[in-house]
Amino acid sequence: MRHAPVENEKRRMLVKTIDLRSDTITHPTEEMRRAIGTAEVGDDVFGEDPSINRLEEMAARMLGKEASMFTPSGTMSNLIAVLSHTRPGNEVLVGSESHMLWNEVGGASALGGVVMHTVPNDEDGLIDLDVMEAAIRPPNIHYPPTTLLCIENTHNRCGGAVLTPEYTSGMAAVAHRHGLSVHLDGARIFNAAVALGIPAGELARDADSICLCISKGLSAPVGSLLCGHREFVEKARKWRKMVGGGMRQAGVIAAAGIIALNTMVVRLADDHTAAQRLAHGLARIPGITSWPEKVQTNIVMFEPPASNTTPDFIQAMVSRGVRFTYPGGRRVRAVTHRMVDAADIDEALNRIEAQVGGKAET
Ligand SMILES: *Cc1c(COP(=O)(O)O)cnc(C)c1O
Repeated sequence: MRHAPVENEKRRMLVKTIDLRSDTITHPTEEMRRAIGTAEVGDDVFGEDPSINRLEEMAARMLGKEASMFTPSGTMSNLIAVLSHTRPGNEVLVGSESHMLWNEVGGASALGGVVMHTVPNDEDGLIDLDVMEAAIRPPNIHYPPTTLLCIENTHNRCGGAVLTPEYTSGMAAVAHRHGLSVHLDGARIFNAAVALGIPAGELARDADSICLCISKGLSAPVGSLLCGHREFVEKARKWRKMVGGGMRQAGVIAAAGIIALNTMVVRLADDHTAAQRLAHGLARIPGITSWPEKVQTNIVMFEPPASNTTPDFIQAMVSRGVRFTYPGGRRVRAVTHRMVDAADIDEALNRIEAQVGGKAET
């Protein structure tokens, strides 16, 4: 008994950790590391970093926009989008489950001075068109003017749900008719494009701006790109400087991003296959509640048996070497990515089954 903690520690070190917390944990590939080592660089605040300029041109072209701007994170891209599209005291419509509402520290309100007006997301990440339209304030001396609609594709808290181009067009048409701009939080837009088998540009067509992350499933170490019309991006550059996101020889980062956009998009299909494997495996484990038919991309939501609180389940799984995140409520979030393969998924399923079946660790 006295030696048990030491034995546990030894065992923990022997067990390979399967990290399903996020696709953000992916490391740069060898090819990226080589490109970083030889990247051509300049001072990007002067617009003179050739690697950054190339990455920005690539992202704009892939998203069908005139221009794009590199930022250190998706959070900063979304913040700059709000700062560029609105004025303090304006109102921004966001989904009730959106990343911009939940996961960005309230930056749009704290730094942009906007009112975040939430409209309900259904479980597929969709906002009802009529409900959205009804939320837009009519002209009235009492009301803050509604000037921006933000939507999210894929939808993180709604299990990686995909918005179709038709849905996006419909929302954008109504928003534009009322004089709102439309920002698309496309941190995982390429997951949506791969799931639908269409170019990402089709998903961004009706949005005035879109941000995408290269540091998630695409495996680059850092960064996001905010894309839109040329004048929008020029305005955004000024805001980026103000919030401290103007970087100097950022080409060392862009070099990895260029490889991410060139070579890592198609392989997102592998992450989706792994998510299917995980979701269907979870559905076979007694006591686990899951919705494999809902899984469209690389995010899988499930619930542990009612005998466990979700934080306790997640903690127990840490000691079994499988890591998840906790989005709140009963749900556990698992994300597949380049650094877990089919064998890892099967092993994770075994460990989950051992946990919920109360089997001894082996
Ligand atoms: C990850 C993510 C972001 C940005 O996250 P950063 O960690 O700041 O790059 C924005 N929106 C969504 C939907 C995301 O999943």
